[in-house]
Amino acid sequence: MSQIFGPVPSRRLGFSLGVDTIPYKTCTLDCIYCQLGRTTNKTLERKEYILADVIVDEVEKIIKEKKKKIDYITFSGSGEPTLNLKIGDMIERIKKITTIPIAVLTNGTLLYSEKLRDELKKADLVIPSLDAADDPTFRQVNRPHPSLSFETMVSGIVKFSQEFKGKIWLEIMLVKGINDSLKHIQKISKIIKEIRVDKIQLNTPVRPPAEEFVRPLSMQNLEEIKSLLGDKCEVIAAFKRARQKAYREDVEEQIITLIKRRPVTLTDISNSLGIHRNEVIKYIESLSDRKLLQSKIYSGKRYYYPV
Ligand code: SF4
Repeated sequence: MSQIFGPVPSRRLGFSLGVDTIPYKTCTLDCIYCQLGRTTNKTLERKEYILADVIVDEVEKIIKEKKKKIDYITFSGSGEPTLNLKIGDMIERIKKITTIPIAVLTNGTLLYSEKLRDELKKADLVIPSLDAADDPTFRQVNRPHPSLSFETMVSGIVKFSQEFKGKIWLEIMLVKGINDSLKHIQKISKIIKEIRVDKIQLNTPVRPPAEEFVRPLSMQNLEEIKSLLGDKCEVIAAFKRARQKAYREDVEEQIITLIKRRPVTLTDISNSLGIHRNEVIKYIESLSDRKLLQSKIYSGKRYYYPV
């Protein structure tokens, strides 16, 4: 399957062409809210998981076809994109073939590396995450690789924000009863003051999470927290996304046919339709909002089936 997906409509980035630099599901974390499911390869090893040549060639081909509107080229995908050792090389090479801005979605855990911070300097927008204000909460929400320390991660994000010349939007994923207490928000607020951010974006797990016990905050809770975090803060949780239909009805129909046959995982749908998981998630979201599909976790995997 292609490493490039979309362009998919994204609430923050317009039409976003996704660039997936790693195999599913390779990440430094195993967040309880992850919409991709549990991490199967938790690692800190940076290597060229997918060849830079393959990715850059694919991006170039799509850009040259000029068939679809693209607002951002976004490094994201099947886990943590900065684990690919060649991310800087890819950004640099894509910059030479297009003026479309480049965004990188990262969990921020590897920004302690001076080399990585340097590699990301040519991106236009970096969106790191910070869901915790202390080590116990970090372990509870993000279930990091055992060698990762909370303090090192935060100091990496702080350093990056001081060195990077592009825009930084800091995303905070809030899980009900876990990292949303007033005390915890006040601690996060203190840490954020050290980071040079253009925006602080509050999110909550509205898509099916990796763990069944994860619950979202209400819009009212998010608005209250937003008022504590200052002018740069906005709520990006898409409670209203629902009413929009997915953008290709034939794909929706194929997903409905699949789930009617038997309960299927995200990976089953992706393999069967030949569509990247991150693109499938958008359809699932829309179908679920219109009560055409539901899901449940069995043996650690989420299965989708008709309502
Ligand atoms: S949410 Fe992002 S950082 Fe967390 S486990 Fe999933 S891919 Fe990794």
